[in-house]
Amino acid sequence: MAQQDIPNGFTGFSVKRTAGFQSAKEAMDKREKEARETGGKGAGGMARTSLPVPAFGLIGAEGLQHAETRATSQQQAHALRFAAAGKRQGDARAFDPAKLAEIPTEQRRWSWVEIDLAAIRHNVKEVKRRLPTGTRLMAVVKADGYGHGAVPCAKAALNSGADYLGVATVDEAIELRENYVNAPILVLSQPPETAIPLLLAYKVMPSVYTPDFAISYGEAADAFGVRAPFHLAINTGMNRIGVNHDEVVDFMHAIGFHRALDYVGTFTHFATADHEETLDFQIQYTRFAEAINALRLAGIDPGIVHAANSAAAIRFPDAAFNMVRLGIGLYGLQPSPVTRKMIQLKPAMSVHARITDVHFPPIHEGVSYGLHYRSPGNVAICTLPIGYGDGLRRNLSGRIDILKDGVRFPQVGNVCMDQCMFEIDMRRTSLHRVVEPAIGDRVTIVGRSGDAVVTLDDLANILGTITHELAIGFGTSRLPRLYV
Ligand SMILES: *Cc1c(COP(=O)(O)O)cnc(C)c1O
Repeated sequence: MAQQDIPNGFTGFSVKRTAGFQSAKEAMDKREKEARETGGKGAGGMARTSLPVPAFGLIGAEGLQHAETRATSQQQAHALRFAAAGKRQGDARAFDPAKLAEIPTEQRRWSWVEIDLAAIRHNVKEVKRRLPTGTRLMAVVKADGYGHGAVPCAKAALNSGADYLGVATVDEAIELRENYVNAPILVLSQPPETAIPLLLAYKVMPSVYTPDFAISYGEAADAFGVRAPFHLAINTGMNRIGVNHDEVVDFMHAIGFHRALDYVGTFTHFATADHEETLDFQIQYTRFAEAINALRLAGIDPGIVHAANSAAAIRFPDAAFNMVRLGIGLYGLQPSPVTRKMIQLKPAMSVHARITDVHFPPIHEGVSYGLHYRSPGNVAICTLPIGYGDGLRRNLSGRIDILKDGVRFPQVGNVCMDQCMFEIDMRRTSLHRVVEPAIGDRVTIVGRSGDAVVTLDDLANILGTITHELAIGFGTSRLPRLYV
């Protein structure tokens, strides 16, 4: 009889349980029950004889005896562990929660995102410097500040010249308010009417473009005895949200009667401000300017007028109206190849890790899922604890470089969910010096190392996407964010 057939609770994956299978616990419970029923020995009586052998199927008396011994020793071991745990809990020196909390997040897992708040401040000042004096600046901190952390970025921006904050959702606005951010906040869309009490309670302005929402908002404000400030969204050609550019006067006449509504600002959004070709931009600009004029001619004050996103704010300062909305540029990423020559922005985000393992696979050994990469021999394969679960997109597999000590090394093999590998050539040639990798060595995935740089732009170009998406991917993943 095979040893693994012993019913000790776990019989291994390959062993088929027979119909008569009983775990050791079942056997002991049953034995106890039978002992009680027969008025015989109680628990721990080891009443082996009272147990009907057929219940164990293939297991004979010998196996049964073994099972009992195992079960008893397991229980004893468990009791000992339990007692030890209890003792530990009473011991203040072991597992002090404060001590545990002191272990830094980047020392729990060797990968992290760094956010340079000085770069955020630099970027606000650089953009603001180029604008006509008096132009306000809205820091757009939606999607957790494009992955950089909405609260610290909002505070850094407000401390360096920003006047307004823009978010995408009511909850993003509430997060700012709950972290003591007092600046005006505009939700850059019209929320569901059910969210109106939240807007009023947290003093957050919605964008408005339907009469139904506007009236409900005004009514709710009236009921609470407060004002209902809002910005009017105008559609000038992007066809995403907003009152059509040639219907704004009618719209304002339709809602203007409401005494609680407080018309604070008017905006539109450009679809092509980042394109080299500017015709579509000019069409939108003209439609917006005409809509603003029409409002003024009708005796309606459009309040704070704003249209420019990062690309437009940098490229067309004359189209800034009263305020620009700085999103991607705030984080130091170029909104367009066109702006690269126009302004020096500092990227705030970098991504780092430490080597967790090093292998020297012989020639032709594969690496990672699929074994698509094969060792050419004389290479060190270094493992990093970062993968597509952390924003390092799987489509980047084999297409990026990892920076170590100022040198670029190719990432090889498929990027896994939580880990990826890169290759260090160990051959000593006149062309490059050998870098001896060791577990714990620091590397850079996005950012600078010596003279070598990998930017989010590089990754975005490889993937055919934009940096916004990659920054959010890293920054809102499980990677800890460190502010430097
Ligand atoms: C996201 C957003 C912005 C910021 O755009 P960037 O290109 O990142 O500067 C500005 N305005 C509106 C309406 C937005 O939704």
